[in-house]
Amino acid sequence: MSGLSGHCHCGQCKYQVEHEGVFHFCCSCESCTRLSAGGRLLGISVPDETFKAEGPLKVYSYPGGSGEHIELSFCGNCSSQLFARPLQHSGFVILRAGTLEKGHDFKPRKFIFSEEGYPWDLHAF
Ligand SMILES: [Zn+2]
Ligand SMILES: [Zn+2]
Repeated sequence: MSGLSGHCHCGQCKYQVEHEGVFHFCCSCESCTRLSAGGRLLGISVPDETFKAEGPLKVYSYPGGSGEHIELSFCGNCSSQLFARPLQHSGFVILRAGTLEKGHDFKPRKFIFSEEGYPWDLHAF
């Protein structure tokens, strides 16, 4: 299977990209922890060029760690986060690993902002 694809919980929003992911990572920064409503965010960066998404997406924009805004896209119906565009890394989209279709692999190689994470989550590192 080449490329990555995924969908939200209700199935109305879908995405696909012709890339396996540049960077697979876990982020435990304050924003990612809160927004994911879990201990950390599981992300995969892919180039924006072949990325396509459809469905009733909504965008929430917030300042990232460097002060540049991050535009987070989520399903307006079921609220699942699907992907985000960090404006300081234009040309890249960060997919949420939990929305991938089954069969795609997620291999986190980097753990970032681990020191900001919850102690109960860090035990899993
Ligand atoms: Zn949905
Ligand atoms: Zn983060």
